[in-house]
Amino acid sequence: MIAAVDIGGTKIAVGMVDNDGRVLSQAECPTDAERGYAEALKRIEHLLRAMLTAAGVELTGIGVGSTGPVDPFTGEFGDVNFFPAWRGQNPVSDLARIFGVRVAIENDADASALAEAAWGAGKNKKRLIYVTIGTGIGAGIVLDGQLYRGVDGAHPEIGHHVIDASGPPCTCGFHGCWESLAAGPAMVSWVESNMPKNYAHRDHLTAKRICELAREGDALAVQAVDREARYLGLGLANLVTLYTPDAIVLGGSVMKSAVFFLDEIRKTIIRCCRFVPYEKTELTLASLGEDANLIGAARVWHHRFAQAGGPHA
Ligand SMILES: [Zn+2]
Repeated sequence: MIAAVDIGGTKIAVGMVDNDGRVLSQAECPTDAERGYAEALKRIEHLLRAMLTAAGVELTGIGVGSTGPVDPFTGEFGDVNFFPAWRGQNPVSDLARIFGVRVAIENDADASALAEAAWGAGKNKKRLIYVTIGTGIGAGIVLDGQLYRGVDGAHPEIGHHVIDASGPPCTCGFHGCWESLAAGPAMVSWVESNMPKNYAHRDHLTAKRICELAREGDALAVQAVDREARYLGLGLANLVTLYTPDAIVLGGSVMKSAVFFLDEIRKTIIRCCRFVPYEKTELTLASLGEDANLIGAARVWHHRFAQAGGPHA
C-alpha cells in the first residue's frame, strides 16, 4: 500500500493507493502556504496517520507529487510560485523520518504522466506526452516507461514554450508562453478584455462557464472558445513536430470541456505538422479522472523504487 501526497497551490490531498492504482481512501486540507512549511507537514502527517489507522494496513512507501519546481533526487522544494518561502525544505527526508519508509517526489505533471502511462490512457505507449491544462499548463514526458528528465533532473517547462512573443504577459516574466495564451485563466482574461461594458455574463467567468455560454450561442464566448482551441492546437502541434510521440494524453480542468476544442486542435495539427507522421500520434483524453494527481503521486513511488521486478511495475 502506497500513501500518496499531492501538494498543490491551494490544497494538499493525501490518499491510500493500491498496487493497481486504485484510490482506497483520501482526505484533503488547505495548503495555507503562508502558515509555513512545518505546519503543512504536520497536517500531512496527521491526515496520513488517521488514514493508516482507519485502513489498518501497513505502509510500503510514500509518493509525492508537487506543484513545481522540485528536485526529484534531493527531495527539496525549489522556487515554487505558490510557496516561495518553502524553498530548500525537504518533504522527502521529513516524511521518511516520520514514517520510516522510502519516499519519492516528482513534479505533479510528471507524476500524472507516469500514472497515465502505467494505469491510464497512455498504457502501452512507448513515447507518451501528458499535458494538463487548468490554471496553468504542465506536461510530463514518459519514454519506455521512464520519465524524461533534463539536466540535473530538471523538469522541462513545456507550458512556457513561446507561441507568440507579442502575446500577453506570463507568470514567468516573459510574454506569449503557451500557458499565458491557453490555460483556463487566459480564456477568462481574453473575454474580460474584449467584453462590452454591458456584457450580461461578466460576473463569475471561468473557462467552464465560457464554454457553456458558447454552447448557448453567446458570440463572444464562441470567439473565446475558437481562440482557445487555436492556441491549444498550436502548442500541441509544436509537441507533435518536436517529439513525434505515439500519444499525447490531455488532462486538467479545461479538458473537461475538450469537446469544444478537439476538432480545431486536430485541424491545426494537420496544418502545422507536414514534415512528421502526425497522423500516427494518438490524441486522447486522460482516463484517471478526478483522482489523477493522487494516483500519480503513488505512481511516483513505483517508478522510483518498484520497477526492477515489481509485480505491477
Ligand atoms: Zn511563461
